Amino acid sequence: MPRPTRHPETIVLHAGWRADPATGAVAPPIYQTTSYQFESAEHAADLFALKAFGNIYTRIGNPTTAVLEERVAALEGGAAALALASGQAASAFALQNLARVGDNVVSSTDLYGGTWNLFANTLKDQGIEVRFADPADPESFARATDDRTRAYYAETLPNPKLTVFPIAEVAAIGRPLGIPLIMDNTAAPILCRPLEHGAAAVVYSSTKYLGGHGTSIGGLLVDGGSFDWEAHPVRQPLLNTPDPSYHGAVWSEAVKPLGPIAYAIRARVVLLRDLGASMSPFNAFQFLQGLETLPLRMARHCENTQAVTEFLKGRKEITKIIHPSVQAGENRARADRYLRGGHGGLVGFELAGGAEAGRRFINALELFYHVANIGDARSLAIHPASTTHSQLSEEEQFATGVTPGYVRLSVGLEHIDDILADLESALAAAG
Ligand code: PLP
Repeated sequence: MPRPTRHPETIVLHAGWRADPATGAVAPPIYQTTSYQFESAEHAADLFALKAFGNIYTRIGNPTTAVLEERVAALEGGAAALALASGQAASAFALQNLARVGDNVVSSTDLYGGTWNLFANTLKDQGIEVRFADPADPESFARATDDRTRAYYAETLPNPKLTVFPIAEVAAIGRPLGIPLIMDNTAAPILCRPLEHGAAAVVYSSTKYLGGHGTSIGGLLVDGGSFDWEAHPVRQPLLNTPDPSYHGAVWSEAVKPLGPIAYAIRARVVLLRDLGASMSPFNAFQFLQGLETLPLRMARHCENTQAVTEFLKGRKEITKIIHPSVQAGENRARADRYLRGGHGGLVGFELAGGAEAGRRFINALELFYHVANIGDARSLAIHPASTTHSQLSEEEQFATGVTPGYVRLSVGLEHIDDILADLESALAAAG
């Protein structure tokens, strides 16, 4: 970057890249290569021993992807980032990087349905227990903690509950115990920088707002660089004891010459090396394109969503609106504290007619796409109870905020008059 800045509008255009040293190309090229010619036998040995930084093999790093990683790390105010094949891979790596068989993690109940499944079933099968805590009561994280707790996990603006998480409160419980708070900030880029509130790492599904175009699946894991892993050797053994998979490296020590990025480096050279969930260079290029307009898009998403929220108020078909702006008390205070510049692009509502009305509403939409995604430039809608959350039990659906008549909108960037016209006719059809 020409000169350091904290402004996201500049970071998304400049961080991590100036011009291609070989050709002068202004846009970061797509380095569509699997491998990189080593300069010599010694150079190759240094790269493998982590004595020198450089390209080895695209499964563990790629120059196009590196620009995206540096840009997103800068945007979050973090020390390093790791691009991954999907948001799911980023959530899984975030925890697998700290927890192994017999360990546990305490997570907020307010989660995307796919993350709930990963935590409640797949990680459990791998021997990592995820304990669920109520975000309305930050102390519930402390109560669920024991000697084997390795991390806390939550979503900033949880999809679909849209109740902003008490980031600083829970981060402050974990820090003295050596437990990092990992925040999934997928629904609130630009609006919130969780690291500034005490989170240790940030997870993204770049599939959503970071890309904005709906063309590519991807994820990122950002290392905040401010967590003192070394001070907690018993609590965090994976970063503080010799790693047999990397000639006995102790990550918190070995990585010191490279900066405070032990967490990111281990995720890359152990998990990404072994599990292989890498982002393709082409997708990294797509995300770089999307990222350039992220600040502009987030502002418009917020503006259009606020207008939709106002429109939904007082509609007879609707019993409840779910949006930070209509919340009261502590929830509203947290929305105001943690979200800057708007309340995001998501709004939910409950239809008086329940599940049947939900299906009628969805079927009547013409402009909104009916898809299992959020954060696209286009407007999107879904009925979670019959789709994204249908594999969850009724109790689990309730815990994540999904009721039979719940409909979630991801409000896009179309003209607001066209958005409202589509909602008007679909509500009429829902009855
Ligand atoms: N986190 C949140 C908040 C999400 O909404 C999603 C997907 O919907 C994910 C993570 C998973 O991301 P991906 O679909 O890129 O694997």
